[in-house]
Amino acid sequence: MNINQDRYFLELALEEAEKALNENTYPVGAIIVDDNGNIIAKGRNKVHPQQDATAHAEIDAIRNAGESIFNAKINGEKYTIYSSLEPCPMCAGGILFAKIKRVVWLLNDDIGFGGYKKIKDAKVFDRKFSEIEAIEEPYDDLKKRQMELMGKWSANPNNVTNLRKAVVPE
Ligand SMILES: [Zn+2]
Repeated sequence: MNINQDRYFLELALEEAEKALNENTYPVGAIIVDDNGNIIAKGRNKVHPQQDATAHAEIDAIRNAGESIFNAKINGEKYTIYSSLEPCPMCAGGILFAKIKRVVWLLNDDIGFGGYKKIKDAKVFDRKFSEIEAIEEPYDDLKKRQMELMGKWSANPNNVTNLRKAVVPE
């Protein structure tokens, strides 16, 4: 997996984040990719459209990956998950359970629910985390695009009421 491939898939994660924003919900997107750069699944925040507090972008992508997650484990394939924002504690747990071997995110989330680094640094599940390569904030320009999406979300005076109107277009 070379660095340009990382950039390409992070841009796709940003596109998913943009879709979430257009659906009136919080802009986070995620993409799961196999060893050969094939896209296994995409996901985006659907918490409000689906009225499901666990429907984060990374969990959505893992669900959409379906049985290929288990086939990857059997076949010893290494998956990478790309997220536009640092995974929260729940998604960090989901990444461990899905046996994803590499995680790359655009923007740290130290003041929000970012949890990947906190859990990893808490020295719990040490061995599990040691099997995952984590890459944070590799591209400044793409990081700024994620910050812009989050800024648009925060700057919208109707953002909270919009959550009630959040819809996944079919
Ligand atoms: Zn999450």
